[in-house]
Amino acid sequence: MTELWVLGSGSAGNAIYLSTGETRLLIDIGFGPRQLSQRLEQIGANPADIHAVLVSHEHSDHIRGLKFLNYHRNISCYANRQTAEAMNQACGFLPEGLRLFSNGDPFSIGDVTINPFSVVHDAIDPVGFEILCNGLKIAVATDLGCVTSLVRERMKDSNCVIIEANHDEGLLKNNLHRPWSLKQRILGRSGHLSNENAGRLVAEIAHEGLRTVVLAHVSRDCNTPALAKSTVEKHLAKARMSHIPVLVAKQNEVSDSIPVG
Ligand SMILES: [Zn+2]
Ligand SMILES: [Zn+2]
Repeated sequence: MTELWVLGSGSAGNAIYLSTGETRLLIDIGFGPRQLSQRLEQIGANPADIHAVLVSHEHSDHIRGLKFLNYHRNISCYANRQTAEAMNQACGFLPEGLRLFSNGDPFSIGDVTINPFSVVHDAIDPVGFEILCNGLKIAVATDLGCVTSLVRERMKDSNCVIIEANHDEGLLKNNLHRPWSLKQRILGRSGHLSNENAGRLVAEIAHEGLRTVVLAHVSRDCNTPALAKSTVEKHLAKARMSHIPVLVAKQNEVSDSIPVG
C-alpha cells in the first residue's frame, strides 16, 4: 500500500514521506532534527524504518535536517554530485551513507524506482523526482522557476503530482516588504513557479489516472492557500478535469495522508 504525506512545505522547510509498505523514503529534509522527529511521530513513522532521503537541491529549506542522519545511520542520503558538494560547503559535513545519482539516470531503492530530472532553479544542480512504486507514478517538483519540456515529460502520466505553486504574480509585484531584487529573483526563470504557471502545467498533464494534485512551497505573504487552489482549479476546469482534487501543503502542519492510487 502506498502512503504519502507532505510533512511540511514552504520557504521555512520541506519534507515529504513516502512508504510503499516495503520501502520508506523522505524527499528532502528541510526541518531540523527535532521538528522532523515530531512530524514523523505525528504520522506514526519510525525513523529507524526509513531507508533513504532524496535531496532535490542544497537550499537550506531542503537540507536543514541533514544532521538527523547522524543520529539515524540506517537512512542513506541520495543526491547528485554537485548538490552533494554544495551540501558539504553549506553544512560542513556529508552524511556517511551518501550515494550519488546522475540526473536522468533511474535508480532503485527497495521496490521504488526513482528518476531524477533537471529543473531550472537558482541552485547548483536542482532536480525534481519521478517516482515509480506499486504500479503508480508520483512526480515531485517543489522549486522551479519555469516549466521546461523535460519537466512536462517527466511529470505526465502521474497518479499524484506534488508541484510548487509559490506565488500570485500580482501579490508578489505589489508586496511592499520585499525588495525589487528579490521579486526579480522569484519571478525569474530560475526562481519559483507562480500559481498560473503551476495551473497551466497541471492542466496539460492532467489525465483520468491523476488522483491528486498537491500544491507545495506556497508563499506566506505573496499567496494564500485558497488563491493557489482556485487558480489551479480554474485551469483544470478549462481542461475539463475539474473532478481532480487539489490539496495545498502547509508549512506548519503535516498533511493528511495523500491519495495516490
Ligand atoms: Zn530552492
Ligand atoms: Zn525551497
